[in-house]
Amino acid sequence: MAVASHRPDDTTKICTHCDRDIPISNIDLHYAHCSRNLEKCKICGDMVPIKHADEHYTSTHAPVTCSLCSEEMTPEILGVHKGEKCPKRIVTCDYCEFPLPAIDLFEHQEVCGNRTELCHLCNRYIRLRERAAHEVACNGAPPEIPRAIREAERERAARRPPPPPPQDFSTRRLLFTIAITGIAILLGSLLFQRKPEDMTQVN
Ligand SMILES: [Zn+2]
Ligand SMILES: [Zn+2]
Ligand SMILES: [Zn+2]
Ligand SMILES: [Zn+2]
Ligand SMILES: [Zn+2]
Repeated sequence: MAVASHRPDDTTKICTHCDRDIPISNIDLHYAHCSRNLEKCKICGDMVPIKHADEHYTSTHAPVTCSLCSEEMTPEILGVHKGEKCPKRIVTCDYCEFPLPAIDLFEHQEVCGNRTELCHLCNRYIRLRERAAHEVACNGAPPEIPRAIREAERERAARRPPPPPPQDFSTRRLLFTIAITGIAILLGSLLFQRKPEDMTQVN
């Protein structure tokens, strides 16, 4: 019988119609159904229901047209084409984030990347195409100061004594109280000093 060929383990047989491994107990039923209803697609090799063969061809293999660039292609690659390959797909400029067709991107970025923008760290104008690399390398030093002076400054900063540790709240409050008392005493003494004058005027 040509229905099935024997497998060495004898628990399954390969259906000669679809080439799939089928349990022996099921093979007759499977083959009857398989040969009556399924056919192998000549393009992709998938087993396709005979009554849906046209549909399978149309949806999987019939050429389609890219709505953006009008190029004809198979439906399977249309998604990748529109997302990554189509020259008319919309992409955004790396520098200004303006959306434009991919085919114009290179020329646009040539111009756009040559624009400069002020780096707020070092105060220099940096080309946009160099901005990413600059941001990594920028040490924030303004360009006018020569390296020698910059280094001397850094050394001086390193030699400076560390700032005193922050005082805690109660100490600050105590100092504040002392200051207020001092001002009060000062004011009191000023008033006291004026008293004799007043007295002399009265006399
Ligand atoms: Zn089969
Ligand atoms: Zn197919
Ligand atoms: Zn396209
Ligand atoms: Zn741009
Ligand atoms: Zn910078």
